[in-house]
Amino acid sequence: MSINEKYFNAAMEKLEQRRSTNKIISEQRRSEIYEKIPEYRELSLHLAETGGKLVSLIMKGGDTAEGVSRLEKDNLDTQRCMSELLTKAGYPEDYLKPIYTCPVCKDKGTVNGKWCGCFRKLMLEEAARELNENSPLELSSFESFRLDYYSDLINPQMHISEREMMQRNFDTCRRYAEEFTLKSDGLLMTGATGLGKTHLSLAIAAKVLEKGFSVIYGSSPELMRLLEQEYYGKSDKDTMSALVGCDLLVLDDLGAEMDKPLYQSLLYEIINARICRGLPMIVSTNYSIVELQRRYQDKIFSRLAVLRQLAFVGSDNRRRAKTQRQQ
Ligand SMILES: [Zn+2]
Repeated sequence: MSINEKYFNAAMEKLEQRRSTNKIISEQRRSEIYEKIPEYRELSLHLAETGGKLVSLIMKGGDTAEGVSRLEKDNLDTQRCMSELLTKAGYPEDYLKPIYTCPVCKDKGTVNGKWCGCFRKLMLEEAARELNENSPLELSSFESFRLDYYSDLINPQMHISEREMMQRNFDTCRRYAEEFTLKSDGLLMTGATGLGKTHLSLAIAAKVLEKGFSVIYGSSPELMRLLEQEYYGKSDKDTMSALVGCDLLVLDDLGAEMDKPLYQSLLYEIINARICRGLPMIVSTNYSIVELQRRYQDKIFSRLAVLRQLAFVGSDNRRRAKTQRQQ
């Protein structure tokens, strides 16, 4: 992943916040224990003293082996007593150990001179936050989805009602969001405008985001325009890395972007890279499967075709009469 300076600085700032928050929590825990277990406090003072004695003994030089081993034993005994006091009072043994949000790099952001995964994740989150700024992520939820907008008359071709069909889509989407992991499959939502694809994909995005995953939600025309600017060097953002690396990508309105070769190759790059990394994506489109096949290169279509398809159906007539439209 290439590094955009802005995301880099934002990630650095978050690391600093983590370190200081964890330090505050540690200090609070320490005062709590000192107050509840005064004996613990005495022992920790004693421990500091032994440490000091050990240093001055070594500085003195000469034959210090016996003295050092005595002090070391004292040190170990004191530490054992202290941890016993903690556990006896019902605290975990590591309650006063340093707290790290990322134990791998101890919140330093690097391990052995390389960026830690947590740091890359922080940069991605920053990129996602920026891309999602204009998305109505908080507007659509599963709770606000209206099934009564769909006809309950049996559709003769499908042998079930549109409402029943939508209930199934709704259940699938909610389960998808609740059970989301990085190993989740992808979804392909097909169907005409106004049947609830955007609403449900936003609801999934919001729920998955709430679970702590990085999610990018964007419409295909908008994302293509952004990527095109970056492609021609008119912007120093790194949208491609974010789209390819986030935990879940929701690509809305595929097919609404202009039909041009650059967009086909950018789309291929995104879809292929995510599939190679095994990262899930949700694609929604007004196109039918047949239309998608006609519109996109085989290498794109074949990758879309492996996503789990959810067909959104409806005449839209009944719902058009309603003042509130469900996107
Ligand atoms: Zn880390």
